[in-house]
Amino acid sequence: MKKLVLASGNAGKLREFGQLLAPFDFEVLPQSAFDVPEAAEPHVTFVENAIAKARHAAQLTGLPALADDSGLCVSALGGAPGVFSARYAGEPKSDQRNNARLIADLAGVADRRAHYVAVLVLMRHADDPQPIVTEGEWHGEIVDVPRGAGGFGYDPFFLVPELGKTVAELPHEEKNRRSHRGQALAQLIARLRAGA
Ligand code: IMP
Repeated sequence: MKKLVLASGNAGKLREFGQLLAPFDFEVLPQSAFDVPEAAEPHVTFVENAIAKARHAAQLTGLPALADDSGLCVSALGGAPGVFSARYAGEPKSDQRNNARLIADLAGVADRRAHYVAVLVLMRHADDPQPIVTEGEWHGEIVDVPRGAGGFGYDPFFLVPELGKTVAELPHEEKNRRSHRGQALAQLIARLRAGA
């Protein structure tokens, strides 16, 4: 099996990517197994941050690397919180304070459109001139009153209009099937199947 380093310390992502990439002969290992510290994410676009993280992990391990970057973009806020989604209300990271800020920012705003974005980057080596880059989007609306206990982050406030439910009200499998990350991963797998 070919080793692939995941530029993330998230155990859930490691398990999910590991299962889905095993048929392609990839053994997915966390960057912590190689003592790779978290990369800086200085950019204002998801794709630049995902590339920076993948390149950092590939450089320090000498292995192919996979990175993801994701967040919430709200139309009426010019795409904010965007790449700052995890720390929208500052340090330390808090989903509760991020959500409170989001609802405060949208007070009196009629346009509630928002979408989640996920970008995945698979780099064969640190100097790969053509990494595989895929992107998924999931469109919905921000509601003022939270519903549901599933998911994480902004999910209780993110309504999927065609289902009449927030993401936090969806079963895990349904979220994975529909989500921005699920879509980006499906595209990555299609690219690998096609021999990329
Ligand atoms: P990361 O790319 O996993 O670091 O996610 C960045 C941030 O975007 C998270 O901390 C959340 O605030 C937000 N986010 C990304 N994906 C989701 C999601 O599926 N549900 C809720 N929030 C999300």
